[in-house]
Amino acid sequence: MSALNCDMTWEKMAFCLESSPDLFFPPYEPENAKNRARRETKAKTICKACKVKEQCLEYAKINGPIDGIWGGTTLKERNQQMRLKEIWEQPFDIMGD
Ligand code: SF4
Repeated sequence: MSALNCDMTWEKMAFCLESSPDLFFPPYEPENAKNRARRETKAKTICKACKVKEQCLEYAKINGPIDGIWGGTTLKERNQQMRLKEIWEQPFDIMGD
């Protein structure tokens, strides 16, 4: 279980502050797969150069599910990362109880 984290002091150093939020969040209207992929790739390219990428990703994981690109990941990618982490952290029971 994770706690709500409201600390967003890192946001002041976000590389995306001068970019359009439309790149980082899906539109209200349906978006086809090609446009979504193009938009997400552009956003992720911005994230690659961001100095607070780790803080941003952590914030989205702790406070999620939040749609959009955070820390260079999509919601689907963050969910996959968290599921893998949960599996990895489960105690290994060799007796099969
Ligand atoms: S990692 Fe990406 S979304 Fe997060 S603050 Fe940096 S540029 Fe913005």
